[in-house]
Amino acid sequence: MTWREVAAAAGLLADGPGDGGAVRPTIFAEMSALAARTGAVNLGQGFPDVDGPAHVVEAARAALAAGRNQYAPGDGVPELRRAVAAHQERHYGLTWDPDTEVLVTTGATEAIAAAVLALAGPGDDVVALEPAYDSYAAVTAMAGARFRPAPLALRSDAGDPAAPRFALDVAALRAVVSERTRVILLNTPHNPTGTVLTADDLAAVARLATEVGAVVVTDEVYEHLTFDGAVHVPLATLPGMAERTLTVSSAGKTLSLTGWKVGWVTGPAPLVTAVRTVKQFLTYTSGAPLQPAVAAALADEDGRVAAYVAGLRASLARRRDLLAAGLRAAGFDVAMPAGGYFVVADAAPLGFDDGARLCRELPDRVGVVAVPVAAFCQAGSPAAAQLRSWVRFTHVKRDDVVAEGVRRLARLAG
Ligand SMILES: *Cc1c(COP(=O)(O)O)cnc(C)c1O
Repeated sequence: MTWREVAAAAGLLADGPGDGGAVRPTIFAEMSALAARTGAVNLGQGFPDVDGPAHVVEAARAALAAGRNQYAPGDGVPELRRAVAAHQERHYGLTWDPDTEVLVTTGATEAIAAAVLALAGPGDDVVALEPAYDSYAAVTAMAGARFRPAPLALRSDAGDPAAPRFALDVAALRAVVSERTRVILLNTPHNPTGTVLTADDLAAVARLATEVGAVVVTDEVYEHLTFDGAVHVPLATLPGMAERTLTVSSAGKTLSLTGWKVGWVTGPAPLVTAVRTVKQFLTYTSGAPLQPAVAAALADEDGRVAAYVAGLRASLARRRDLLAAGLRAAGFDVAMPAGGYFVVADAAPLGFDDGARLCRELPDRVGVVAVPVAAFCQAGSPAAAQLRSWVRFTHVKRDDVVAEGVRRLARLAG
């Protein structure tokens, strides 16, 4: 595997005449640069514009001052491993040994990368729902495995074609899962569509994984950020699945501290050992002074973090509503998300059939930055074709920023 193959897997190899094999920046870098250059409202990249709880930041400051500045243990500091295990027990009834079944990683991203590198290689398939978080295909290429995306279904069964929604397409998943499938990479709540998989969905994934003997790696970074009473269920809680599932999450989204990159993976000791073996040669360890702060936040002895997260969930739901209503008023069809940081919308009713082109024009047209959903699809895939006119907007920005974005987007309607 070479870096060019990684770039190709991530759709970053420029293929125009005279490009000479150049590598493009990611769409996120391109759009953030556009936002900076044009002064547009940046609803592209999903990071909060307000930091998480002050007392958690203060705990990290205290850890820095107290001299927790040398390498943390490769597994993560014991208090964080214990706090992660206690969190999984308290929220989901999952019991893991903090010493052998919990591993602290450099964000969810490293946990996913180390899991895929540990479990899949040449001749193996890695299956994921499409659209998919952009690191999945890239790290599958690094592992030398084949990336097999299964498109989510786009439905409008509420009887309203202007209110589409995304759902698991079990037949599409079945079509790409085989004896070669080593890993099924599942993301719920889902980025970019905001889909929260149902109990039936999870049961179907569990059946398929068990049939072919695949390990499921679940990306649950939005586990606490669900709306309208949607309940996040970890796949590991289904009968027989704890033994074949690696559950991944991180502090970034739950605590609005995306720059900290403190993540973790839980699962049965043999699988966690496999991930640890790779992880120790990627970063070995990171975030020594941040780990005790995240440990205290997860333990949450005084309930301040629970109150913070409840408030964040409510405010995110409100900002989602504001953004979704604005997009509808501007003429988009909107798929209402049940969780996460993003609203995806179809620009076709406005007369735009190419979301990537629209995103490149949007800063100059109306002063807003967004990201095309096709950037989360493999070039030429069925999902890429079906979602060509779709665009992702984030609502994890201050109310006034979302409101200003919506005001500007209204000009598209005129
Ligand atoms: C943000 C995000 C991540 C990255 O998490 P880190 O902890 O910052 O590495 C992984 N998966 C999804 C779906 C995300 O949206």
